[in-house]
Amino acid sequence: MIWNPNKECMSRDEMHDLQGKRLQKLVGYVYHNVPFYRNKMQELDIAPEDIKSIEDITKLPFTTKQDLRDNYPYGLQAAPLSEIVRVHASSGTTGNPTIVGYTRKDLAVWSEVMARCLTAYGVTRDDTFSVSYGYGLFTGGLGAHYGVENLGATVIPTSTGNTEKHIRLIRDLKISGIACTPSYALYLAETLEKMGLSKKDVSLRIGAFGAEPWTENMRKEIEDRLGLKAYNLYGLSEIMGPGVSYECECQSGSHIAEDHFYPEIINPDTLEQLPYGEQGELVFTTLTKEGMPLLRYRTKDLCTLMSGDCPCGRTAVRMGRIVGRSDDMLIIRGINVFPSQVESVILDMPEFEPQYMLVVDRVNNLDTIQVQVEVRRDFFNDDIGRMLAMKKRLADKLKSVLSIGADVKLMEPGSIERSQGKGRHVIDNRVLK
Ligand code: ADP
Ligand code: ZN
Repeated sequence: MIWNPNKECMSRDEMHDLQGKRLQKLVGYVYHNVPFYRNKMQELDIAPEDIKSIEDITKLPFTTKQDLRDNYPYGLQAAPLSEIVRVHASSGTTGNPTIVGYTRKDLAVWSEVMARCLTAYGVTRDDTFSVSYGYGLFTGGLGAHYGVENLGATVIPTSTGNTEKHIRLIRDLKISGIACTPSYALYLAETLEKMGLSKKDVSLRIGAFGAEPWTENMRKEIEDRLGLKAYNLYGLSEIMGPGVSYECECQSGSHIAEDHFYPEIINPDTLEQLPYGEQGELVFTTLTKEGMPLLRYRTKDLCTLMSGDCPCGRTAVRMGRIVGRSDDMLIIRGINVFPSQVESVILDMPEFEPQYMLVVDRVNNLDTIQVQVEVRRDFFNDDIGRMLAMKKRLADKLKSVLSIGADVKLMEPGSIERSQGKGRHVIDNRVLK
């Protein structure tokens, strides 16, 4: 089934025309409503009239996460606050979080693209669907939630945590679909097995997994242990949230909702646009957004774009799996973490040397992060109570800045390996096989 064949199966020529028209309108809209974009365009000596087709997009300026932080909280907002009906915030920034405001129409587009995804996975009105992404400022929970409602299936807003109770609901309510991170899906399988149950005791048939990188091997393992078919779901809050792209039954790449999010691949060093098929950094322009529309937003996600017909009948361009990042962002339990956030906490505390190492691992399918930090010689103490209090102070600060708990390991001065040249601050032992 296809939710919106008019848009998902448009001929390439029609799609190009539509994208060109929408881009023209968008550029006029941001030029007149967002001083940041007006200034940038004036610096580049371009006016809205210079944009005549979608190809002209390369004339436009890029937008980065730093631009969003610099214009915190509402500087890049194009619609007045009276039109904004919801705000989400992205984790993982030093200092200012990234704030995204949505108008009523933006939310309608979001639940439209989420309904397209779920339909592509085979979800119908007869399904009972559990949304196990976090509900709150994070876009995962509410984004998927309204998609399920829009489609007309029954949504169970389980959110995260309390896995045994969740499994009970999965059994009692005969939940048939689930959206969560792939690592949580594996944790769910493990908990099921610990409870002495197996996939035969549940009736899950469809999984919508995303918010973090995963692999074909993880897909097989999740499918084997939960007895469902696992689909990829991609998105980011700056552009919308989950639903920017989704796999169809062919599972050869994820179709991008191209009538709303125009994709490009660029070389992250030269910023030149690359042809389809080449790997580079994914860039999106939000063609229809009202709240916080973005021109050429650099996602820092590395992947390839694929054109060509898909046997499912959808004509929208597909993106391959995310193979890495062009920055140092880590995704830990679905939360974005930058080493610079840890650094800023440590630099703020006189007890510590500016030497630290993040050790990331995956234990029982749950990500763990340990922060190793050197204690300054004059703060080193034989009094265990004082050392424990110091450890707790750092752990508490990290928790409030990162939004996830980190295990702190205090180290003797000089014990963390110094690197020649570029400092190495992360050891990621998670092997995504
Ligand atoms: P979200 O709410 O969708 O997690 P964030 O803005 O917090 O949005 O994080 C977005 C980032 O998460 C993306 O830029 C990408 O790096 C990662 N991500 C999201 N979905 C996937 C996916 N299916 N595969 C790989 N990485 C993903
Ligand atoms: Zn397809």
